[in-house]
Formats: sequence, C-alpha cells, structure tokens
Amino acid sequence: MSTPAASEKGPKTNIIKKLSEFGAGFSHHHEKYEAVGISEIRRSGGMLSVDGLTFRFPEHFGFCYGVDKAIDMVFETCERFAGRRIFLTDQLIHNPFINGKLREKGVRYLQRDARHLLVTDELRSGDIVVVSAFGTDFRDIESLGACGVTIVDSTCGAIINVWKRVEGYARHGYITIMHGKRNHEETRATVSQAVKEGGSYITIENVAEARELATVVLGELSEADFLRRYPGAAPEGFRFEAATCKMGMANQTTMLKGESLEIQGILRQAFVTRFGEAVTAERFRSFDTICGATQDRQDALRQLLRHPLDLLLIVGGFNSSNTTHLAEIAQGHVPLHHIESADDLRSPDEVRSRDPRTGAVAVRDRAYDPSWTRIGLTAGASTPDVTLVDVIEKIRSFRKNT
Ligand code: SF4
Repeated sequence: MSTPAASEKGPKTNIIKKLSEFGAGFSHHHEKYEAVGISEIRRSGGMLSVDGLTFRFPEHFGFCYGVDKAIDMVFETCERFAGRRIFLTDQLIHNPFINGKLREKGVRYLQRDARHLLVTDELRSGDIVVVSAFGTDFRDIESLGACGVTIVDSTCGAIINVWKRVEGYARHGYITIMHGKRNHEETRATVSQAVKEGGSYITIENVAEARELATVVLGELSEADFLRRYPGAAPEGFRFEAATCKMGMANQTTMLKGESLEIQGILRQAFVTRFGEAVTAERFRSFDTICGATQDRQDALRQLLRHPLDLLLIVGGFNSSNTTHLAEIAQGHVPLHHIESADDLRSPDEVRSRDPRTGAVAVRDRAYDPSWTRIGLTAGASTPDVTLVDVIEKIRSFRKNT
C-alpha cells in the first residue's frame, strides 16, 4: 500500500492509487469480462459472419484503460478487504452490468447532499471507500480523510491530467470554462479542482450556452443575467467581469471533440472581436482535453459508418456520456438502437432503447427485421465484451425464429 496520507482534520488515512499498491498477488479483474469470441473478432479485423448475418465492428470499442483500472481496483478491494464495509462514492462506471456485480458483492453507495458532497456520517474507521473512475470533489477526499477510512482511488489518469490543467488555470487567475454535463460526476470533480486552487469556473453544456457566454464577453449581456439563467453553472456567489477576466477552456473527457472545438472557437472569436488578438492571447486559453480512448472510439465509429449497414447496435449505459455521444454521431446515418444489454432486445418486435435526439428511454417496435443482415455493433468505453456476446446471440436467435 502507498504511504499513508495524513489528513489535517483527523486520523491517518491510507490511500491506494494503483493496483500494484495492493501488494504482491493482485489480479487484473477486468479480464474476467473479456470474451474469447470478441477478442478474436478484434484480432481478425472486426467481422463475424454467422447464420447469414454479418456483424461488423469498429476498430475500437468497449472497455478503455480507465475502466480496466477502475474494475481492477474495486474487485481487488473486494478480495483484499473481504469482511470490511466497502463503499463507493458514485457508480464505479456507467454500466449496469458491472454495477450489478458490485451490488452482489455487498458494495454500498455513499449518499450526497444538496451540494453534491459526500455524506460521511455512517462511515467509521476501518471502512473502505472506493472513488469511482470519474474522480470526486477534493472536499470529499478531505472529509473521507477525517473519517479514518482507507481510500481506494480509481480516478482515471486521463481525468487527472485535465485536473492539472484546471489547477494551472486557477493558479494563474483564469476562470475555468468547462464544457461538460453539469450533473456528471466527472465534471463536478474537475471544476472542484479550480476551487481547490482558489479559482472558479463556469460550466457550459453545449454550443447554445457558449453563444450566450460569448455575448457576455462581447458586453451585450450582463454577467449577472448570464449567471441567473444558468444557476448551477458556477459556484454560489461567483461574480466576474468580462471586461477584465481571463478564461481558460477545458472539457469533460468524453464530449464530442467537434463540439468542444466549436465552443472554443466561439469564445475565442468573442475575445478577438472585443479586445483584439494581443489581449486574447493574454486572456484566453484553450486546450482539447478529450481523452484518447474516447476519440479512438468516435473516429472508429465514423469509419464503420462508411460501410453499408442495415442496423447499428450501440451498447452501453443510458447514462454513459461516451456511449450517448457514439449514438449522436451515428444518428441519421443508419437505423440504430442504443441499448444497455441483450435484455433490451425483448423480441424482434420490441426494443427498449434510448433516443439519441431526445435522451428518452422507451420501448419501441421493430427491434429486428429479417431482411436486416448487415449489423454494425459497437460499445461504449464501460461496456464489457461479455455483454456483446449476449447481444450477438440475441440477434441470431431472432433471425432463426423469423
Ligand atoms: S473514457 Fe477516457 S477518461 Fe473516461 S475512463 Fe476511459 S480513458 Fe478514462
């Protein structure tokens, strides 16, 4: 285990940040969720022909390195600390199958208060708390430290890299402009790093919000009016002066790169228009913080869409940011179902799926048509291969029965 970190508020707390810190004999638990058949498909170029069906996969799909790490850390925790109370700060990853496995092992979830900070009242010395792959607010780590628990921190390294960028912004007096989903664990954890360093942030979710913020930079909308329109976008009591402030952009690692770049362009142009290039160079910073694994999956899906497909199945949690963005990319190119597992393919006539345009999850008709033989299949970064095997088997059974 790593060197114990002392909390200023309480007893010493062990923090485990790497699998190797558990000591000799650790296991790579994520390998249990790989499937021989899917690994073979990866090796052989992404095609599977069976029962008159052709399944075509993109070059990159399924578990990313961050999810591998989180699964290794939490299941190793369950083995090493059997008999101790184990809590998670949030869902480990956004995948119902893996979260179900953890519930079966007795892992519990901590509650969050109205400010989205962890409620630690029920914790006692000797408990184990696993920080999810998304990370958590720096104030949570402080309060866990005060409880004398062991923290197993599975925060993905790609997210920690964004934190370093945000911390640097804060130290140099820049407001972090965060492109991300305000209610997403990763976004909350990332913007908290700005606060930790004495800075602040504004979270914007999409291009429309960026255009409104640009009108503030241009002096056309007051700062107070903007903050009133988006009450959850900045810390309580936050004030800023567009005429003098500095802004630095970051984004949630799983956003659409094109959208993040467009937002950067909108805000940068507003600075140039009002203040000129020289001032913009001084007062506006941008940096693309989309993670490589997310980008690989998005690019590979675009390549897959060049092939003729009758149906595209996108498999991943309905609350998984990277999976929902895969569905957005494919939307309009091909008939698609975004499903969480094979169970959502209820019958050839019935599918439970998420609409990528509205985000609504509903039961719809026409899961599979016998004339559909060319099936594209991809999966979000938190979807295990074993889930894909079940999806393939379900489509094969539909074909046989129709
Ligand atoms: S999608 Fe990227 S940031 Fe998220 S866990 Fe995977 S590697 Fe890390």
